[in-house]
Order: sequence, then C-alpha cells, then structure tokens
Amino acid sequence: MTRPVESAWRRPLALAGGLLVGAFGGWLVGGHVATGVALVALAEIVLLLTHLRHIAKPMMSLPPTPADNPADLRHDRFMTRSRRLAANLHDLRRAAGNLPDAIVLLDQDQHVRWFNHAAENLLGLRRPQDRGVVLKEKLHNSELAGWLEEPSPEPLNDISAPGAPSRHINVTLLPFGPRQRLLLARDISHMSRLEQIRRDFVANVSHELRTPLTVIHGYLELLDPEDVPHLAPVLGEMRAQSKRMGQIVEDLLMLSRLETQDHVNEERVQMAPLLATLRKEAEALSQGRHSITVENEANVDLLGSPKDLHSAFSNLVSNAVRYTPTGGRITVRWERTADGANYSVTDTGYGIPADHLSRLTERFYRVSSSRSRDSGGTGLGLSIVKHVLGLHQARLDVRSTPGRGSTFTCCFDRERLMAPETHDSKIGE
Ligand code: ADP
Repeated sequence: MTRPVESAWRRPLALAGGLLVGAFGGWLVGGHVATGVALVALAEIVLLLTHLRHIAKPMMSLPPTPADNPADLRHDRFMTRSRRLAANLHDLRRAAGNLPDAIVLLDQDQHVRWFNHAAENLLGLRRPQDRGVVLKEKLHNSELAGWLEEPSPEPLNDISAPGAPSRHINVTLLPFGPRQRLLLARDISHMSRLEQIRRDFVANVSHELRTPLTVIHGYLELLDPEDVPHLAPVLGEMRAQSKRMGQIVEDLLMLSRLETQDHVNEERVQMAPLLATLRKEAEALSQGRHSITVENEANVDLLGSPKDLHSAFSNLVSNAVRYTPTGGRITVRWERTADGANYSVTDTGYGIPADHLSRLTERFYRVSSSRSRDSGGTGLGLSIVKHVLGLHQARLDVRSTPGRGSTFTCCFDRERLMAPETHDSKIGE
C-alpha cells in the first residue's frame, strides 16, 4: 500500500528539526554546537533503529503477498484459473482419447481435425498422417464412406467397421460448434452377436415346431366330431388352438426372414387387384358384421415385394375387423399425397389409449391380451407390418381415439410409385 506523502516526510523533517534543536541547545549550554548535534544524532539513530525493527518484524515473518496490489491479485487468480482449466482440458482429452467408442472431430468439409484411439482401431485412422484428410476419401469403398456422402440425421446402424471388418458399429454424426461435426462410432459387436443368436434361436425353434404341428393339425382334421359326439367341443377347441399355434409359427418364420433381409425384390405390385383381394378377405373375416368400403383414389402401383406388401396390408385389415364391434365401419383407402402415396385402414372400433401407441409394433405386445387371443391374434401382425414397411423405406403412422376407432397408415415415398401398367415407369422419374 502506498504511504501518504506527509507520513513519508515526517521522519526526515523530524531528524532535521532535532539536529537544529540539538545545535541550539549545545551552543546555549557551552557553546559546543557539535556536541549538541552529536547527542541528538545519537538519540535519532536509536529511534531510527527502533523504528526499523518495527518495520522489519512483519516483513520478516510474512512473505510479501499480492494482497497489497489489486493488479497482482487479479493476475494471480487468472493464472490459477488458467492452470485449473488446462488441467481439466488435459483430463477431458485423455478421457475422450481412451473411450471405447470411436470419436472423430470433423470440420465443415469433413477434414479430420482430431480422433481418439478407438477411431484408429475401428475406422483405421492413423496418427499423424490422417490428421487433415477428408474422412470419406480415407474410407473410400466402405459403407460408411457412402453414408458420409449424404449423412442423414438417423444413425447408420450395424455396419462392418472399416478398420476391423469383424466388428460391428453404429455411426452417428452430431453437430459440434458452429460448423464442425462429431462422428461417433459405437462398437456394437457384442449386441449384434446376441441379436444374431436370438434370431437364429427363434428361427430354429419355429422351424422345428412347424412339422410336428402340421402332423397334429392333420390328424385333428381327420377326426370327425360326429364319431365322438361327447368330445366334439374338445375337438373343436384342439383344432382352433393347433391352427393358432401354426399361425404363430408361420408369423415367427416370416419375421425371421424379414429381419435377415436388407432389401426386397423390386417387382410391380398392382394395387387395383390387391385392393380387390383385400376387400374379399375383409368380407370373409367380417361375415357381414361390418360395413366395408375400399377406395382407390391414387390409381398408381407400388414397387416392391407383392407377397410381403399383401401380408402387411392384410394384417391391418384383419386387425380392423377383429377390433371393431359388430355394426362398425371399415374403410380401406389408397391415395396420393404430396410426397408419395398412403395406404390406410380406418375403423370405428375400440381404439387404443395413447400410452400404448409407441409399443404396438413390438412382438407380442397387446393392448388387451384376452381380446387379441379371443379374436385369433398372434401378437405379431404389426411387427410384421413394421418390418415390411422398413424394407420398402415406408413408415407406419397410427392415430387412435379410445372408444371411437383407429387409422393405421402406411406412407410410401414417391420413389416407390409406378404409373399403372400401360406406362410402366416410375412416377418419380
Ligand atoms: P394381434 O395379433 O394381437 O392383433 P398385432 O401385432 O396385430 O397383434 O396388434 C397388436 C395389438 O394392437 C393388438 O393386440 C391390439 O391390442 C392392438 N390393435 C391393433 N390393431 C388395432 C385396431 N385396429 N384397433 C384397436 N386395437 C388394435
């Protein structure tokens, strides 16, 4: 702290005054000015020493601190904070560097700015030569490079890792900062293996059950209830249940096949005859209990698998009939939209509470188990619909109001549409 000026001058002035007083006193007592000055000087030296001792004491016991100077204090705080930040940054970089997921920091032109160890293993990036390379060029000929040409906000699921082909990864591209992107590649090899085991198990069990069930069902059909009238109700129930088990096995086998497929045969699916078949199926199932309307407003065909699309559309019609009480209305509609075309089935049935909607396409998920079983459902219909639509790059939209009815809509892109037979070309072209 700076001392006030008057306090700084006080001691020299006092010293000079003391010397004058001493000289005058010496001259008064014996004419010896020098003696007086010497006496006063001695007294001043003693005083000065005492003073210095007081000053030196705190200086020796406490080191100088910047507390006396605000600028020093600010600088000191700044340095401490910088050191702490640098340490945190170092820890974060080490943590990111050692994560099991691959992380690559890309600039706006997909140049590699930074990557961690896992990116070396999974994506085959090398240090230091791959800093600054364009990622999609570095990974050329891989599925990931193709995706990076036009990355979508949806993750790229279950692909072979470019740097370790035996491993499976999920890739996501996240916005990072104003222009950068963060590519995350998650190693899902273990999950992928478990999923494969599950798929194989379900497919094998279904396959193994198919033959014995066919045999049991065949023998039950041979038995005539009139030969054993007292067992007639039992026989009827056994036939119904064996038929249901047969249907579950067929649905499981179909799901297994759809799951292993990554594309469908691109064939023309003639919608007009398909809609006519669906109407007949609905009428057969309804047995006159509902009013059924089919509207073909689109007048276009679809490109895809006729068998699989028939199966998906038919499941929706079957659900509408089974979950709509007698007297209800069912409308099947094929119509054009701004982006493509929609196939929808609307009913005036029981409807579905909102909290069930997101889970409807899970296997064996039922809003009401008893209603589903009583109506002959397998619990796999909507799961099949979802997979079939996925293979056709289409999506399922469900709207429902409990007590009033539901609309299930399959939304197809323009690329999947074909003009009716005479023009034989894609609508999108
Ligand atoms: P299920 O064979 O049980 O019908 P789905 O997978 O086809 O299996 O359907 C799953 C569940 O969704 C059904 O159990 C039912 O609860 C509900 N659901 C499906 N369609 C309808 C509909 N049109 N109206 C009311 N509920 C429906």
